Amino acid sequence: MRVLKFGGSSLADADRFLRAANIIANSAKQGEVSVVLSAPGKTTNKLVEVIDSALRHEPVESHLSNLEQSLRGLFNDIRSILPNIEVSGFENQIDTSFQQLRQFVDGIHLLGMCPDNVNARIISKGERISVQLMKAVLESYEQQTNLIDPVEFLFAKGAPLEAMVDVERSTENFAKNPLPLGRINIMPGFTAGDDTGQLVTLGRNGSDYSAAVLAACLRADCCEIWTDVDGVFNCDPRLVDDARLLKSLSYQEAMELSYFGASVLHPKTIAPIAQFHIPCLIKNSFNPQGAGTLIGQDTGEDKLDIKGITTLSDLTMVNISGPGMKGMVGMASRVFGAMSSAGVSIVLITQSSSEYSISFCIESEDKKLAQQSLADSFELELKEGLLEPVDFIDDVAIVTLVGDGMRTSRGVASQFFASLAEVNVNIVAIAQGSSERAISAVIPENKISEAIKACHENLFNSKHFLDVFVVGVGGVGGALVDQIQRQQSKLADKGIVIRVCGLANSKGLLTDAEGLPLDNWRDRMGAASEAFSLNSLSSLVQRNHIINPVLVDCTSSSMIADQYVDFLAAGFHVVTPNKKANTASMNYYHQLRDIARGSRRKLLYETTVGAGLPVIENLQNLIAAGDELERFTGILSGSLSYIFGKLDEGMTLSQATYLAKGNGFTEPDPRDDLSGMDVARKLLILAREAGMDLELEDVAVEKALPPGFDDSGSVEEFMDRLPEADQYFSHLVQQAEQEGKVLRYVGEIKDGQCRVSLASVDENDPMFKIKDGENALAFYSRYYQPIPLVLRGYGAGTEVTAAGVFADVMRTLGWKLGV
Ligand code: ADP
Ligand code: ASP
Ligand code: MG
Repeated sequence: MRVLKFGGSSLADADRFLRAANIIANSAKQGEVSVVLSAPGKTTNKLVEVIDSALRHEPVESHLSNLEQSLRGLFNDIRSILPNIEVSGFENQIDTSFQQLRQFVDGIHLLGMCPDNVNARIISKGERISVQLMKAVLESYEQQTNLIDPVEFLFAKGAPLEAMVDVERSTENFAKNPLPLGRINIMPGFTAGDDTGQLVTLGRNGSDYSAAVLAACLRADCCEIWTDVDGVFNCDPRLVDDARLLKSLSYQEAMELSYFGASVLHPKTIAPIAQFHIPCLIKNSFNPQGAGTLIGQDTGEDKLDIKGITTLSDLTMVNISGPGMKGMVGMASRVFGAMSSAGVSIVLITQSSSEYSISFCIESEDKKLAQQSLADSFELELKEGLLEPVDFIDDVAIVTLVGDGMRTSRGVASQFFASLAEVNVNIVAIAQGSSERAISAVIPENKISEAIKACHENLFNSKHFLDVFVVGVGGVGGALVDQIQRQQSKLADKGIVIRVCGLANSKGLLTDAEGLPLDNWRDRMGAASEAFSLNSLSSLVQRNHIINPVLVDCTSSSMIADQYVDFLAAGFHVVTPNKKANTASMNYYHQLRDIARGSRRKLLYETTVGAGLPVIENLQNLIAAGDELERFTGILSGSLSYIFGKLDEGMTLSQATYLAKGNGFTEPDPRDDLSGMDVARKLLILAREAGMDLELEDVAVEKALPPGFDDSGSVEEFMDRLPEADQYFSHLVQQAEQEGKVLRYVGEIKDGQCRVSLASVDENDPMFKIKDGENALAFYSRYYQPIPLVLRGYGAGTEVTAAGVFADVMRTLGWKLGV
């Protein structure tokens, strides 16, 4: 015998209903089957609403007639496909059901209350209607059917709306009244009968449980739960795009997953089938060919340490503490006794070895009951100050990791908490079941999506998402976007999804949380008009629960640099070739780092010095390893490297500058290079990295112009005047040449001072050969002396700089890159 259960989602319209009927008919060809049906679609919710409205003394006739119409509509749609379907059974059921419902509603209006037994009869009507409809459909397929009335067969105990089935006694019922062979048995889910023969319900979503108890009573070979997803996923597929389907689960794993929120299965389902070792298969009625998920004795084929992540929301955490609790014998049992007598179920109890407090979670809708019951039970202790006033933390949720393998694998908990920390989720409490099969964290409810996404990315070795917002899409920014576009598919093969979710320049902003299409992005950017602001980006990030947003600032604007602290605080990583933030006040410099640390975000600026050369990282590594910078000299400007190289070859300063400008090697205004400020900023960044506490004003700067040279006016005026500087430089070059040296524009850090100046260097100096736009950086340190650590290579150019920025963007993934 196989038991097949179809949920409301599989019966919601004519097409789905007939799919279910076909699956049943096909199964019946292979052997005996019994079918358990839920109410179609959201019928039960609508019936619950009818009761609620009636209790509020609101008119309910429109609710009832809408529901009646939609159920009749379902039948009519089926009838238009199966014209020979028998009408009377269904019609009678609908007529009597709605007549009864109307009577019940009148009663509720009259009494102003709805007794549980009436409630149970109202909310279970949908299942009865499903059964009559399925019977008619199957009979139209020439199948013979047999209806099982659960009120007669399933003997239940406990609260009338949350009853539990006594499998042993129910099994006897079936033994006494064996099911006829060769017929498809159909039973409405969700209900059973109590010892007076009254209809009771098994709790919301209880049809899964009905199927499980029927399978247990019949000692079925298999219990199949047919739903609207391919099986049990490692997390709710509605929350995570790439949730993974699980092939198999142990009964215990399934129990923990469903208890902690995997709504695909009701938590009560497992016990009856586990007791008789009945395998349970979760299948998709929209994809019957799919393999589904098999729940059985052991964890099965899927030998994953962690099987899934689940969430439970709408919870309140209760903390009871006070000086009187130490040594107060039986305190826990009194607290939990108070909850039990108030009918409040406890979802989770957190571990605490101190005797001063007890904490647990309840459903938020039970808060008032809990409050009252605790106030009554501990009136004296509260009055005497032995207990603090009970603390309720609202709007919390539980995130749980489940897996049999967690018992033997190490580091799962630390990865779990690290993932939560990474997305700045504040952990309110922690609980680990003694089975070590589940570990739970209580977190603020508004962080569920971020928590699940981060855990899924980190613990399941699944895709990592990098969501990039590029501000400044000119040279470097534009080249970066093009490089990203070229790399996207290669990175995707490695499980890294890089998306450009925002592009901005001074004129407009384009955004798309799913990633902007990058074909023709320049054209679309031209048409963008929305203004860029922290608020617009951070609300997009929040709305879409983006967990790895990266702000890439490719402008040279101080205004954007001044906002890095706010971006970091709002959860963005910041990657930038813009030197302004790191050369602002020392105060801001520290503030940036404090905020980045506090919000666990990265601030990366490798390209601020030496463009794509690995300067900052190397220096940081040396310092971290205990090295100390004793002296630094370097050619830090690509344009000045080019210009001074040309002076060696006999060009004048003005000729060399014209050439450099014409080739695009200088800033649009060459004074920005010749003023030495760009080099000064780079030098300051290095000095600060090496631990020096200096401001930009502390850097002594000698311009790459003769002393007192008039550098005012427009670019053209300046360039016209520049030949006046030639003689000064030719003289210096000649002088150097006579000493076997060359003239260079050098940044130097020495004895705690930074200085940018002209220098003549001999052939032993690492700067001697540096020209054509190359940069060179010589670090003399405790470890590197007398021969310095020298880094050299192109230190300018949009492509290399963009590639360096790209590398920093990738670095925001940190350790995950190695996964
Ligand atoms: P039915 O109407 O068939 O009883 P439910 O809505 O009760 O269906 O359960 C199926 C739903 O459970 C799925 O549509 C899915 O959104 C949700 N769900 C939550 N967690 C999980 C999970 N871990 N695996 C699969 N589905 C899940
Ligand atoms: N129809 C009931 C409910 O929605 C039972 C079920 O579908 O499992 O709660
Ligand atoms: Mg369900």
